[in-house]
Amino acid sequence: TQWVYRFGGGVAEGDRSARNLLGGKGANLAEMASIGLPVPPGFTISTEMCAAYYDAGEKFPASLHDQIASGLAHIEKTVGGVGFGSSTAPLLVSVRSGARVSMPGMMDTVLNLGLNDDTVEGLAAASGDARFAWDSYRRFIQMYSDVVLGIDHYLFEDALEILKEDRGVTLDTELTAEDLKGLVASYKAKVEAELGHPFPQNPHNQLWGAIGAVFGSWRSERAKVYRRLNDIPDDWGTAVSVQAMVFGNMGETSATGVAFTRDPSTGTRAYYGEYLINAQGEDVVAGIRTPQYLTLDARTKAGAKAASMEEAMPVVFGELAAVFDRLEAHYRDMQDIEFTVQQGKLWMLQTRSGKRTAKAALKIAVDMVDEGLISSDDAVLRVDAQALDQLLHPTLDPMAKRDVLTRGLPASPGAASGVVAFDSDTAERRAALGEDVILVRIETSPEDIHGMVAARGILTARGGMTSHAAVVARGMGRPCVSGAGGLAIDMKTRTLRCLGREVREGDIITIDGASGEVMVGAVATIEPELSGDFGRLMEWADVHRRMTVRANAETPHDCRTARSFGAEGIGLCRTEHMFFDASRITAVRQMILAEDAAGRNLALAKLLPEQRSDFAAIFEIMAGLPVTIRLLDPPLHEFLPHADGEFDEVARATGINVDILRRRAAELHEFNPMLGHRGCRLGITYPEIYTMQARAIFEAAVDVAKRSGAAVVPEIMIPLVATPRELEITKALVDGAAEAVFAETGMRLTYLVGTMIELPRAALRAGEIAAHAQFFSFGTNDLTQTALGISRDDAGRFLGAYVDQGIYPRDPFVSIDVEGVGELIEIAAKRGRATRPDIKLGICGEHGGDPASIAFCESVGLDYVSCSPYRVPIARLAAAQAAL
Ligand code: PEP
Ligand code: MG
Repeated sequence: TQWVYRFGGGVAEGDRSARNLLGGKGANLAEMASIGLPVPPGFTISTEMCAAYYDAGEKFPASLHDQIASGLAHIEKTVGGVGFGSSTAPLLVSVRSGARVSMPGMMDTVLNLGLNDDTVEGLAAASGDARFAWDSYRRFIQMYSDVVLGIDHYLFEDALEILKEDRGVTLDTELTAEDLKGLVASYKAKVEAELGHPFPQNPHNQLWGAIGAVFGSWRSERAKVYRRLNDIPDDWGTAVSVQAMVFGNMGETSATGVAFTRDPSTGTRAYYGEYLINAQGEDVVAGIRTPQYLTLDARTKAGAKAASMEEAMPVVFGELAAVFDRLEAHYRDMQDIEFTVQQGKLWMLQTRSGKRTAKAALKIAVDMVDEGLISSDDAVLRVDAQALDQLLHPTLDPMAKRDVLTRGLPASPGAASGVVAFDSDTAERRAALGEDVILVRIETSPEDIHGMVAARGILTARGGMTSHAAVVARGMGRPCVSGAGGLAIDMKTRTLRCLGREVREGDIITIDGASGEVMVGAVATIEPELSGDFGRLMEWADVHRRMTVRANAETPHDCRTARSFGAEGIGLCRTEHMFFDASRITAVRQMILAEDAAGRNLALAKLLPEQRSDFAAIFEIMAGLPVTIRLLDPPLHEFLPHADGEFDEVARATGINVDILRRRAAELHEFNPMLGHRGCRLGITYPEIYTMQARAIFEAAVDVAKRSGAAVVPEIMIPLVATPRELEITKALVDGAAEAVFAETGMRLTYLVGTMIELPRAALRAGEIAAHAQFFSFGTNDLTQTALGISRDDAGRFLGAYVDQGIYPRDPFVSIDVEGVGELIEIAAKRGRATRPDIKLGICGEHGGDPASIAFCESVGLDYVSCSPYRVPIARLAAAQAAL
C-alpha cells in the first residue's frame, strides 16, 4: 500500500482533489507545488494510515518505514546539501496534522524536528547564526515536550519569562545565543525531571514520536468535541505532513505570517493578515508578541505603529500579493494562507478555503459573481444556509447609549450582552441555568471550546484577529472581541479592571464584535438589514427553489416578520397560543371548567369575537397568501392553575367556587399529557370548541375578503389524527361551520381542510386519511416523539449521550431521523398521493428550518416547508441548495 505521497521539487503526488486521502493541508500543498508556487519539499502520510494505525492498536506497519525513508530522501535531495540527523548540515522538518476539513487548533504540530545537542551545533555553523540555532532548539524542545511527551508547556513558558526578567528584556528576540543555550539546558533538565529520562536525541525516534502524536491527537478530547459540534465523522482520521523547515526566525529579513485573501469578518476585498519579523509560526497565533499588520492600509486604519509588511519588506510583500491573487483565481474562493520568509525568500506553507463569518461569506460570494470568478449557482451553493442565522439577528442600536469600557479587535461580528464568566466551566454552568454569558479570558485555548459554545459572546485580553478565540468564534458565529489590551483580569478576585473601573464576575457587559467595543451593562439592539447582498443572494436562491417556504406564526408581529423575511404563507398557526393571551384566559378557563355543553357554549361565545379578530388580522397581513390554521391542540389542564396560590385568584376571576376548581383541575390532570386528551381528541369530545374556532375563521375570512376584495383561502388543519374516522368527524364540524357562515353572510369562499401527520399510525394509514384531507402537514416534532418513543420535553437529559455514542447521528428533534421518521414520511406521502394525486404536502415541525431536513423534504417532493419566522431565509436558501 502506498502510505506516503511526495510533493515539492517538481514532484506532486496528488492534488487538491485528494483531500480525503491527503487531508486538506497535504492536498493543497501538492496542488500549490504542482502550479509552481514555492513550497518547501515534503511528503504526506495518508489518512488511510491513520485508520490502519488505530486498527492495529496504535502501531505502524513495517512497510511505512521504507516509505518514510524514501520521503526523507526526497526532501534531502530537493533541499540539497543537507541530511536528516547530519551534524554538519542538518535537515529539520515540521510535522503537521491535516484532516479532510480544517479543525483549527484542534490537532498537533511539531516544528524544528531533527535538532539535538549535536545537530544544533551543525545548524549554528551551517547558518552562521548561533542565536537562530539555539532559538530553534528551545522552541523544538518546548513543542515536542508538550505535543509528544505530554509535558505542560507552562513549565517552559515560566522559565522563558524568568530568563527575560533576569536579563531585563521584554522580547524573546532580545535574548542572545548564550541566553538561549542556557534556556535549552534548563528545558532539558525539566524534561528529565518530569519523565525520568532525557529528552530524545535520535532524530528518527523524534520523527516517529511526532507522527504517532499527530495521529493520536485525532482522538484527543478537544478534537472529539470539535467534531461533534461540526458533524465531522470520527472515522475520517487525519493525515500527517512532514515538510522541510523554512525559518522565519533567521533575523530581520525573515518573518512568518498568516493571511486571508479577503477580510474574513466583513468579506471586504483587501489582503488581510498578520506577520512577525524574526519569528516562527506559533508566535503569531499564540499572541506572545503582538503581530503586525500586513498592509499599510490596515495598519493606518488600526492606528498601529509597528511597520506593516508592505512597508518593511516591500519586495516580498509584492510577491506574496501576487501569490494571493493567483491562489484566489485558481481556487475561486477566499483563501487562508500561512507563509514564511526566510532571508528574503518567500515560502508557502499552507492554503485552504478561509473560514469566514456569514456576513463575509455572503459578501464574498456576491462579489465573486460580480468579478466573474463564480456563477450565481455557485454563490447559492457556497453560503452555508445555517450560518445565515448570524445575519438575521439584531445588532446594537447605533443611537442607544453606550458606556464604553474599552476597545479590542473586532474579531467576529454580532453583538451580545450577558454576565461575565472568567472560565469556561463557569460559563457553561451559568448558561445551563438560562443566563446569557460573556466568556472573558486572557486568551482562549482549544480547552475552552465548551465555554465558547455555551457563551453568547467571547472577550479576550490577548490575541489577534487570527488567534484561537477569533477563528473559532467566527466559525461558530459567536460575537468576539479579542486582544482588548486594556483589560487586567484577576483570576483570584475574579474581577477585571480597566482604566480604573472594575467589573466583577456576574456583572453584565456588552460586546460588539463588529466594532471591538466593550461596554458596561446591556445595550439596546436593532433589526438586521435584509437588502443588498443578502437580497441578491436570496433572489438567486429563489430562482432555483422548487418548494415554497412558509412560516409558523400566530401573532401579527410574527406574521409581519415572516413576510419581511420572504415567507410565502403561514404553514402553522397554533391557535392555543392565542388562548393563553391574558385578555381571554378567563374565558378559556370558564370553557374548560364548564360542566356541560351549555356552560361551554357560554364561554365560547366570549372567545368567538376574540378569535375572529385574531384571524382577521392574520388574513390581512398575509394578503391572500395561504394561511394554515390549526384547531386547538394541547391538553386542557395546561390552561389551569398548578401552584396552590393560584387557585384562589383563578376562582375569583372565573366566578367558580375554589373547591370545584380544585376538583376539576384534579379531574383534568394527566400523567402523560402528550399522549393524553389533546389534539383532535378535544374536537371529538367537545365539538363546540372546534365549531367555534372554525366559525371564527370563516367569519374573519369573509369579512377580510369583503373589505379587501382579495381572495382569502383558509386552510384548516386538524391535529393529532391517527385514524380516518377522527378526521371525518372533525371535518364535518368545520364544513358545518362554513356552510352556516356562508349562508349568514351570503358569501362563499374556497377553503381547504387537512390534517397533521404526526402519529405513526396516521403515516401508515395515510391512504385512507387522504380521502378526507386536502393537505397533509407533517408534524415532525410529535412524529419524532412518537416514532422514537422519546418525549420531546425530556430528551435533553440523555440525547447528548445518544449522539456521542453514534446512536443517532444528530439530535433527531433538530435534524430529521431520515431512516425512521423519514421512512414514515415517505410512506405517508406515497399513500396519500395514491389516493389523492394533487394532495398538498408540507412540513411544520421544527425540522422545517433545518437545512439537512429540508434537503430530505426536497427528496420526497414535499410542496412546502414551514419554520419559525427568523429561519425563513435559511429555509429559502437550503431549499434552493437542495434543488440545485
Ligand atoms: C409538530 O408536532 O411537529 C407540530 C408542528 O406541532 P406542535 O409542535 O405544536 O406539537
Ligand atoms: Mg404536534
